[in-house]
Amino acid sequence: SMVAAESSLKTDESARIMKEAQDLMPGGVNSPVRAFKSVGGGPVVFDRVKGSKAYDVDGNEYIDYIGSWGPAIVGAANEEVNEALVKQIEKGTSFGAPCELENQLAQDVIDAVPSLEMVRFVNSGTEACLSVIRVMRAFTGRQKFIKFSGCYHGHADMYLVQAGSGVLTLGLPDSPGVPKETTAPTLVAKYNDLDSVKAIFEANKDEIAGVILEPVVGNSGFIPPTMEFLQGLRDLCTAEGALLCFDEVMTGFRISYAGAQGHFGIKPDMSTFGKVIGGGLPVGAYGGRRDIMEMVAPAGPVYQAGTLSGNPLAMTAGLKTLEILRRPGSYEYLDKITSRLAAGMVDAAKDAGHDAVGGSISAMYGMYFTKDPVHNFEQASQSDMKKFAPFHRGMLESGIYLAPSGYEAGFTGLAHTEEDIDKTIEAARKVLSTIP
Ligand code: PLP
Repeated sequence: SMVAAESSLKTDESARIMKEAQDLMPGGVNSPVRAFKSVGGGPVVFDRVKGSKAYDVDGNEYIDYIGSWGPAIVGAANEEVNEALVKQIEKGTSFGAPCELENQLAQDVIDAVPSLEMVRFVNSGTEACLSVIRVMRAFTGRQKFIKFSGCYHGHADMYLVQAGSGVLTLGLPDSPGVPKETTAPTLVAKYNDLDSVKAIFEANKDEIAGVILEPVVGNSGFIPPTMEFLQGLRDLCTAEGALLCFDEVMTGFRISYAGAQGHFGIKPDMSTFGKVIGGGLPVGAYGGRRDIMEMVAPAGPVYQAGTLSGNPLAMTAGLKTLEILRRPGSYEYLDKITSRLAAGMVDAAKDAGHDAVGGSISAMYGMYFTKDPVHNFEQASQSDMKKFAPFHRGMLESGIYLAPSGYEAGFTGLAHTEEDIDKTIEAARKVLSTIP
């Protein structure tokens, strides 16, 4: 049952392609969340994207609140980005040798984010996060690190412990195939709960290399941090000789041009990036203090490399994307439309008789079906996820493409119009009134 029979969407082509895909790729996809497993009904297959819109192979049009899971913040298939890419293609897509575009994107990222003194480009957020832990361990000479339940830092072995995102959506918080020895040093604390972090530090004196977190959680729904939590982590890490790492793969250049760390005014030692800095091409980055980054080969002994790392095509897309984001008013606009969207969705839910809480910061938002505020994954999982599947399907059938899981944040971009937001809230009102 790839597509629900009662669906009012035309989905013949999507269903045909997904049926073929099932035989070719596990679950028919190359990343699990795309399979719509937790919401059912089957995914729609995209033909093209433009601005705030996505168009599927059956000719349906959607207002898209995923934006390729974050990169499309200046609008999908942005003309300026495309133009720059076409020019670069003529000069080559990959050199495997230094090119000046790497300096330029490195400089832009370093200028934007005050805690960064040096960066290294890689090809995905996963790579950035697995590399940063290696450097943190080498620098401190310690093995253990702390992460938070419901946070996702890519699919490297050591992070697949109570991980968020698709891992959580599929109910597989600890993956088979990961050696216990690899995850033994991964210690899990509770988000927004400083005492849970202190307890781990106390029980593992001088053994913790660092703490890594999503500075605004987007991988168990949308969960903002409290200021006391972030400041407490900063102070605790400094006092314990451990490093603080903000995983800004999702929040970087989205929560503000200076990331979540700029928004909250907290300076981590290390950070990771991805998504937006690649402007729709595969890019990740990690960076931070110069004395730590100089541990990385060939400046230092910590090995990390990549055939396509820093390739000129990806650098070009990132450079143009950041240039567009720097224009006056970008983040004011993103904050304005996104806060209106989040408030409109919550009101729509409440008016239809559902308990709902939600919010947004800049171009990232979320809503849970629950009446109590959500400060961590544990509380998020108490929300009524049964309501999410019909909500998602109803919205899809109304031309609104939402993340296919109640455990994912939503994204807006500069191409979303006030009219898009109005249509979305109106659709939410209709759909929510049909859900018992
Ligand atoms: N870290 C965070 C916070 C993420 O949201 C993600 C991806 O969603 C990753 C890391 C992994 O990035 P990638 O999917 O590019 O490997």
